[in-house]
Amino acid sequence: MKILKIDHLGIAVNSIEEGKSFWKDVLGLEFEGAETVEEQKVTTAFFPVGESEVELLESTSPDGPVAKYIEKKGQGMQHVAFRVENIEEALAELKEKGIKLIDQTPRIGAGGAKIAFLHPKATAGVLVELCQRD
Ligand code: ZN
Repeated sequence: MKILKIDHLGIAVNSIEEGKSFWKDVLGLEFEGAETVEEQKVTTAFFPVGESEVELLESTSPDGPVAKYIEKKGQGMQHVAFRVENIEEALAELKEKGIKLIDQTPRIGAGGAKIAFLHPKATAGVLVELCQRD
């Protein structure tokens, strides 16, 4: 598997509208706009930082994964996403190594990227996302 870079850091917030002021107004990052991914019950907002991005995540529903995360752990860092060259290859390699996956096959995330999550039990508690953008 070839990891190219940290693609983004996923940060769970109660509200993008409220959460973005720190990133945009205090840190001066550019707000690229928000996008809702219905299938994952989440609205995402991206702030480019050099080669990577900060991704704010707001749940669109109380039973969505981000809402459940905040309920358990509060707002904050939720996942780290690595950009890979070939996500199918990466998943096959991880399966071969016996790594527990949340997504057995890639799904489509924000910005049309192919994404897949590894299970935090396999990564000492860190929710890891792989993502491939063509
Ligand atoms: Zn992400």
